[in-house]
Amino acid sequence: MNVQILERNEDSMLFVVDGITASLANTLRRIILSEVPCMAIDDIMIIENDSVLHDEILGLRLGLIPLKTDLDSYNLPEECSCQSELGCPLCRTVLILDVEARGGERVVYSKDLLPENPDVAPVSGEIPIVKLAPGQRIRLEAYARLGRGREHAKWQPVSSCIYRHVPEIKVDAGRCDACGECVEICSRNVLERSGDKIEVKNMLECTICRDCMRVCPQEPAAISVDGNENSFIFYVESTGVMPVERIIEEAFKIYDKKYSEFLDQLLVSLNVSEKD
Ligand SMILES: [Zn+2]
Repeated sequence: MNVQILERNEDSMLFVVDGITASLANTLRRIILSEVPCMAIDDIMIIENDSVLHDEILGLRLGLIPLKTDLDSYNLPEECSCQSELGCPLCRTVLILDVEARGGERVVYSKDLLPENPDVAPVSGEIPIVKLAPGQRIRLEAYARLGRGREHAKWQPVSSCIYRHVPEIKVDAGRCDACGECVEICSRNVLERSGDKIEVKNMLECTICRDCMRVCPQEPAAISVDGNENSFIFYVESTGVMPVERIIEEAFKIYDKKYSEFLDQLLVSLNVSEKD
């Protein structure tokens, strides 16, 4: 197996993995989307809400605000030793919202949510929540906890997690007359004519649409495009809750745990059947 990082910044990573199957690539994608936990507001105690939004709608909007997640300091409520419905400081944290529009209209932003733990604050302070007319007020306590994307999309740590096959483009130099039809039709500028040859200049930009094969006047086409069955381009983009490396690392830990559990259960069952 070989991994090559093509692009990386704080919130996203583009990398190529060579030497795995589609099922493994999809396992990683699905674990990232539905199993890697992150923080989101789940329970809200509304003390006062004079805004035009109903309490429920306000709750939905608050739930979707991405919160910075500190996975090392909090437990998933179902795994926390407190086993309490209300939670404890190890499995929930509170954010307070207390805003009043004095003197004029006022937009309530995510930065108005004051976190009890500054490590669990909104990823961006510029997310609008509701607009208040003069004199209107909102007072509430919002309880955030860890959860998983399979329960609700608000607990999904990524805004994008996709993979596709690495394209393989071959030009049959013996039959290609460099007419340039394929260069013309390609909207991703993958091909280039240099002298009397067609060359591949941006292989990874290719989406395997095969338009170049269709327009080639040669019969059969002098250019062939296929996806490599064992090589994938991954793009993972975090919502900002955690660095993208941490999300991928957590996904592998979860994968590892699932298989260890599987093996343990299998060994237990084998022991039981041997005793019978
Ligand atoms: Zn707890």
